[in-house]
Amino acid sequence: MFTQSAKSFPIPSIQRLPVYLRFLKEQRNRGNTLISCTQIAEEFGQLSVQVRKDLSITGISGRPKVGYRTNELIDAIEGFLGWNREIKAFLIGAGSLGSAILGYAGFVEHGLRIVAAFDIDPVKIGNSIHRCPVFDLRQMYGMGQNAGIEIGILTVPSVAAQEAANILVQIGVQGIWNYTPIRLDIPQEIICEEVKLSASFAVLSSRLKKSPVFPDEYV
Ligand code: NAD
Repeated sequence: MFTQSAKSFPIPSIQRLPVYLRFLKEQRNRGNTLISCTQIAEEFGQLSVQVRKDLSITGISGRPKVGYRTNELIDAIEGFLGWNREIKAFLIGAGSLGSAILGYAGFVEHGLRIVAAFDIDPVKIGNSIHRCPVFDLRQMYGMGQNAGIEIGILTVPSVAAQEAANILVQIGVQGIWNYTPIRLDIPQEIICEEVKLSASFAVLSSRLKKSPVFPDEYV
């Protein structure tokens, strides 16, 4: 039982858990029933004390000189991440990014089930993208009533983001996975996770060796 709210755990630790999880599942498939922090740390070039700290947020503790039972550790991580149950979601904006998300099978493994997509484009409405049916945005409010939708995934153009978010709030979602660059005005109790590929690219590009692409005489 956790006494801390998930909000108070370090985000980098939470972000490392899916990476460990993939490795642990590989180990399980190879028949390795026990795993130590040192093994995990060696795999990812980290300190074993950091791995232990990361894993401790799931509530599990390993046994000295033995480590963890691989199965128990997998269960603990999946339980902590909420990946051991189904989470129903609506996706709004079935364009390039929305379609890519609908086509990524990995989310299904994490329990994310996108039950419907919504758009305003008549060409898309009534069709399916990666087997997910696309409905008219105007149907979202009605379809969302008592449907147990926990998450809304926003992949609409910026101008449409707030309005779509308002409908998601009205149907009672608990979280919004916001891919748009807009800061949404939503009730505080709704968890909003913003995804920014540009921020990630900024880290990569700023770390590139700063050298001119062309010698001086060419510029
Ligand atoms: P896109 O034009 O390919 O897709 C947008 C879709 O939204 C279209 O299908 C369009 O018909 C639909 N749409 C427009 N208005 C709507 C409304 N009111 N309700 C429902 N659907 C509506 O655009 P894209 O390249 O997929 O980008 C979508 C969003 O994702 C943009 O806001 C973009 O800035 C953002 N984006 C974010 C990241 C990131 O790193 N977070 C990366 C790429 C794109």
